[in-house]
Amino acid sequence: MAYISGSTSAAVDAEYWRSKASEAAKALDQESRDFRNLENVLRRVIARLCIAGSGRTAPLDAILGRLSSAPSSKMGTAELEALFVPLADAVVALDQRPVGSAAGEGATLAPDAQPISGDADVRRVLARVLDAVGRDTRLVPLVTEIQAQIAVPVLDGQLPLLLSDIADLVIRRINSVEAEKAEVEDLLAQITLRLDDLTEFLLGETEAQRESFETNAAFNSQLVSNVQDLGSSVEAAKDLDQARATVRARILNIDMQMDEFRNRENERNKSFRDRSEEMRSRLEVLEGETRNLQERLRDEQRISMVDGLTQIPNRSACDRRMVEEFKRWQRFGTQTSIAVWDIDLFKQVNDTYGHRAGDKVLRIVAEKLNAQIRQTDFLARYGGEEFVLILAGTPPVNAIQVTEKLRASIAELGFHFKGQKVQVTLSCGVTDLRSGDLLEEAFERADKALYAAKNAGRNRCIQD
Ligand code: GH3
Ligand code: MG
Ligand code: MG
Repeated sequence: MAYISGSTSAAVDAEYWRSKASEAAKALDQESRDFRNLENVLRRVIARLCIAGSGRTAPLDAILGRLSSAPSSKMGTAELEALFVPLADAVVALDQRPVGSAAGEGATLAPDAQPISGDADVRRVLARVLDAVGRDTRLVPLVTEIQAQIAVPVLDGQLPLLLSDIADLVIRRINSVEAEKAEVEDLLAQITLRLDDLTEFLLGETEAQRESFETNAAFNSQLVSNVQDLGSSVEAAKDLDQARATVRARILNIDMQMDEFRNRENERNKSFRDRSEEMRSRLEVLEGETRNLQERLRDEQRISMVDGLTQIPNRSACDRRMVEEFKRWQRFGTQTSIAVWDIDLFKQVNDTYGHRAGDKVLRIVAEKLNAQIRQTDFLARYGGEEFVLILAGTPPVNAIQVTEKLRASIAELGFHFKGQKVQVTLSCGVTDLRSGDLLEEAFERADKALYAAKNAGRNRCIQD
């Protein structure tokens, strides 16, 4: 931080702090918006789970009834949270009922417990909620635990606890975003205070300069009149002794005035130095605080755009990038292709070799694909075992060559599980942005081409 040497540099600093604070506030605003979306998704999940979990016991139905009104009544998070204890009690009560007393056996599930209705849809939505919550590194262990639970079908009776766990996580995430917002607001308040200090300081400085100028002028005129007096006294003196005495007295007088003036100026300078030193150290503290906060916000932003499992960009980052590339294509007409990928029969890998093996496949596939693409290409994990590749500046004829090469490279990889070699393959749908396209339409075309690839026997790329 530059030493404050005058009003201009202080004014520049003030502008600098204002822009820093406004950048930080904007970043948090975006995150806050993301969370409102997330909350909406959760409310929809609650509604669907309530339907699936109803009809077991009267107390559970009563709580589910209140929960299911949450989406329409816009129930607050505190009210929602207050329902979790009775919900957990009702679920525990389910658990304690004699086996076979009604449908659903609670946490200790009957061996023949069935998946809930709409299982696949519910798990897909829950996975999205967890994906968003998992952006908070502190919550990742809990999120991973629940992700493992929803990687397999959710059985009757598991729902309420699962829902309660996920809702807990979301509330913790919302609270931490709120805490961060409060922190930025606090910082903004501090900056405002510092700016007030600065203004006061600058006004004080101007006043001091004015005073100093006035004192100088008074001192000068006193000095001039003293010297004139001296001249006339000498002329008026009757003899040398009188003249000498008069001169001595006048010089003493001038000396005293000089001393007085010097002392006053020294005092003024000292107080100015003290005040500017104080300002400097206060601004240094503020700069440190702002820098820390910005670093944290930058980390958060980075984490929120990266998929935790594969460490490549996630769905949010992909959506953002697609919009950017789409705009670039609209503006400059750069040919742009989109490829949608899906691992073939991935459920079998999970079912046969376990979820951890499945995760390892996801990590390796992401790494291998990512290692082969150009710097201007963009690969993201879009969902469970789905990836999206954006090929900016690539016409369709080249895009299919690239995807074909990538597909073959994965098919040739040797995965080994339990001592057995297992082939993992990908299907891919490719399209390009065409005039009149909406982004959604192009994406849908790629998705349809992917399903055509699946229907045609998998392990292939189809272009539309
Ligand atoms: P298809 O060839 O038709 O795509 O068959 P599939 O088995 O790949 O498709 P399906 O949609 O039936 O299954 C996808 C599986 O991906 C189910 C789900 O358990 C698994 N999955 C999704 N996300 C993850 C994850 O993060 N880790 C693991 N291990 N599995 C996941
Ligand atoms: Mg899939
Ligand atoms: Mg698949």
